[in-house]
Parts: sequence; C-alpha cells; structure tokens
Amino acid sequence: MANYRCGRCWKTFSDEQLKVLPGIRCPYCGYKIIYMVRRPGIKTVKAT
Ligand SMILES: [Zn+2]
Repeated sequence: MANYRCGRCWKTFSDEQLKVLPGIRCPYCGYKIIYMVRRPGIKTVKAT
C-alpha cells in the first residue's frame, strides 16, 4: 500500500522503498518533496 507520493512525478510508493535510499526522496525521479498520504489530509515532508 502506498503511503507517500512524489511532488513532481506524482508516483506513489511505500515507506520501505524510502528506507532503501539515503534520505527522503522519490525512488523514481529523486525529487526531495514527498507528500504523505497515509492519513486523511496531505502533509509535506521535506528532506533536509
Ligand atoms: Zn518522483
């Protein structure tokens, strides 16, 4: 089940896919702005 969504390519992915990468970024395009879609409402998670 997808928990996150990329802010650029708009693809969805799970938190396990994020763990593989160093830091929080899209596993498809590398974009650093990820939207959390786990709960109702969208929360922005921005990588430092
Ligand atoms: Zn992306």
